[in-house]
Amino acid sequence: MNRFFFSLILLVALLLLGGDVHSQAFPPATRAEMRVARAQRATRNVSEPEEYLVGRAVAARILTANPLVQDPKLQLYVNEVGQTVARKSSRPKTYRGYHFAVLESPEPNAFACPGGIILITRGMLKMCANEDELAAALAHEVAHVAHRDGINSIVKSRWAEVAADRRIAAAKERGGRAAEMATLYEGSINDVFKSIATNGYSRTAEWAADQEALRTLSRAGYNPVALASLLTKMVAQEKRGVGIYRTHPPTALRLTKVNMQVKDLKPEKIQKVRDQRFKEQKI
Ligand SMILES: [Zn+2]
Repeated sequence: MNRFFFSLILLVALLLLGGDVHSQAFPPATRAEMRVARAQRATRNVSEPEEYLVGRAVAARILTANPLVQDPKLQLYVNEVGQTVARKSSRPKTYRGYHFAVLESPEPNAFACPGGIILITRGMLKMCANEDELAAALAHEVAHVAHRDGINSIVKSRWAEVAADRRIAAAKERGGRAAEMATLYEGSINDVFKSIATNGYSRTAEWAADQEALRTLSRAGYNPVALASLLTKMVAQEKRGVGIYRTHPPTALRLTKVNMQVKDLKPEKIQKVRDQRFKEQKI
């Protein structure tokens, strides 16, 4: 897709999706978020191109086990919603931008790879009752990217090794190819993959991502209550022992906290245009 066409699609997406019906303000950064910010500073020596390289390798690994959904219309739609949300996040731009993709997997899950590649399963889409809930799921993942939670899971001593590795410096100098660089960064890629796909992030990181998601949804014109309604369904799934609980624990606690934030907001009527385009998708 050429750059012009891509920009055009983004522009159309902006016009279609950029409503402003919800503008409830959410409180400024909490203590949990401050801790996340401190963690970000601790790994600030990971450059944006390096973050992108690690993130792309992690995404490639997830894609080997979960192929992409072969439905360009659905992929484009999820990207439009995702870009709208990302633009209103605390990190609207990354080195190579945000990319959203739907994986062919019945298990409800979503993965935020460093640098902005966000993968969401068909199972997770099926759980979303409307576009606002989809936006809520994506806003939570965008927040993980914004907070650099994936990159922060790289074992600190390992990054020191990477920084001191002369092979990496030499490869960079001669413009090393992606595959070669990925081999040199393998340990870091393993760390990030483990935290994204197996172990999950800390409670603090999850809570901070939810807080940011509420603010992002509000700024993007989506109803923040959608995060609570989505989490409610995830808690029910968790009780049945399926899905996302492995990577996003503990959902019931997250729901309690989110409910406290949105308790004074009334669930608003879903916009007709959104409802229609959501229903048009073959999910
Ligand atoms: Zn999460």
